[in-house]
Amino acid sequence: MYQKPNQRLINQTCIVTGGSSGIGLAIAKAIGQEGANVLVNYYSDRAAAEEVAAEIEASSDCGSSMIFKADVSKENQVEAMFAAAIDKFGTVDILINNAGIQQDAPFHEMTLDQWQRVIDVNLTGQFLCARAAIREFLRRGMQPNISSALGKIIHISSVHEIIPWAGHVNYATAKGGLVMLMQSLAQEYGRHKIRVNSIAPGAIQTPINESVWSTTKGLNDLMKLIPYNRIGQPSDIGGVAAWLASDESDYITGTSIFVDGGMTCYPGFTENG
Ligand code: NAD
Repeated sequence: MYQKPNQRLINQTCIVTGGSSGIGLAIAKAIGQEGANVLVNYYSDRAAAEEVAAEIEASSDCGSSMIFKADVSKENQVEAMFAAAIDKFGTVDILINNAGIQQDAPFHEMTLDQWQRVIDVNLTGQFLCARAAIREFLRRGMQPNISSALGKIIHISSVHEIIPWAGHVNYATAKGGLVMLMQSLAQEYGRHKIRVNSIAPGAIQTPINESVWSTTKGLNDLMKLIPYNRIGQPSDIGGVAAWLASDESDYITGTSIFVDGGMTCYPGFTENG
């Protein structure tokens, strides 16, 4: 059924991990504007999460919002977060698996702690949240008047799920792992009408990569990697996520959508054919 933009997610509930900043913040707002209830998960910045929740409440006639502090790499905290969303809103329909970190080092100097923490947050965290979401989708059952799907999971991956990244081996490994997590879940749960996809951003202007875009040289170097010749904004991801969570994309599952200004078109070959 066609629904007007801004009403595509009415009566649905969404959890956005790492929703107090950057890409997660933009997705939380975009999904809230579509009428969904939104749980804004945060790790440390409670004030920022409260601000996002207040903005969602102000921008929507039908959706509501709450905040919840949880470390996505901790099983008990993830379980508590889902329990809180279900307690307040009745169920969960959409998971945005967004929380992520970088701890960069040349590989021969990378500590086990740097390796492990990035894998724990960026890969195991997405496993724990996806598992909790799928359990809830299966428990709740279909609601045909609300969505054609039993539930939707969107992993926020990266162009580094396919582009190797020297000096960031822990990060690239975790994002590469998300491809098989996402596709295997899509394969395993498609028959239950659960859709599982990834959004793979290129360079988006957020706190995680401020050291790159905050200097003129960093920004100029970055443009050599982006055919579309601008850095991405969090709202570039927010709009795609809202659409990918809606029934307008009902036949899409098991796919990574690259939102990268052409970064994955190997621009280094532009003048070098
Ligand atoms: P960001 O630093 O603004 O956002 C990351 C969020 O995750 C923060 O709110 C942080 O508090 C939260 N977080 C960190 N550890 C957590 C934990 N253990 N539990 C819960 N939350 C935790 O940066 P961003 O760019 O918005 O990153 C969001 C996602 O997008 C990440 O998965 C990142 O890898 C991915 N990504 C970003 C870019 C980019 O260019 N900015 C590109 C590709 C992919």
